[in-house]
Amino acid sequence: SLTFQLRPPILANAGLAAAIKWLAEELRENYGLNFELLDDNTPLPLRYEVRSSVFQAVREILLNVVKHSHCTLARIRLGSDAGRVQIEISDNGTGFDPAEVAQKKSRTGGFGLFNVRRKIEYLGGELLIETELGVGTLVVVAVPAEVA
Ligand code: ATP
Ligand code: MG
Repeated sequence: SLTFQLRPPILANAGLAAAIKWLAEELRENYGLNFELLDDNTPLPLRYEVRSSVFQAVREILLNVVKHSHCTLARIRLGSDAGRVQIEISDNGTGFDPAEVAQKKSRTGGFGLFNVRRKIEYLGGELLIETELGVGTLVVVAVPAEVA
């Protein structure tokens, strides 16, 4: 089951990149997630509240990959430029039909991605979802970087 709590022991101290690496390793150990992580090694300057929300978003997106995608490979890319921090998560799984998802949502009350989008937009960021049946899914989380 996917009900156990994933607690990031390092989010406050080591930062977002380390926490996302930790999370992906947990999902590999517990659910066999096969992933590649590409870190541009650009800084990810986010204040704690934003960092924490982005981490929760990434957690939900990766749990969706584990629960729904049936992929053989997921890719996680971390980077920043032009004053924004961007995290891309893609998989080569089933993809989905956003219209069917809307119907399903009203029956089952699944609000994972809905809440993620609301939170990221509240922080002045954007959530982009590209998905194609039989090809896979790309989800991009972008938020404004902290201004020094
Ligand atoms: P909850 O997150 O509330 O437990 P959920 O995961 O079903 O429920 P969402 O996270 O909002 O809800 O995702 C909506 C639906 O989109 C999923 O039920 C699934 O059908 C589809 N989906 C999301 N991500 C993927 C993915 N990476 N691959 C395939 N389907 C996906
Ligand atoms: Mg979900």
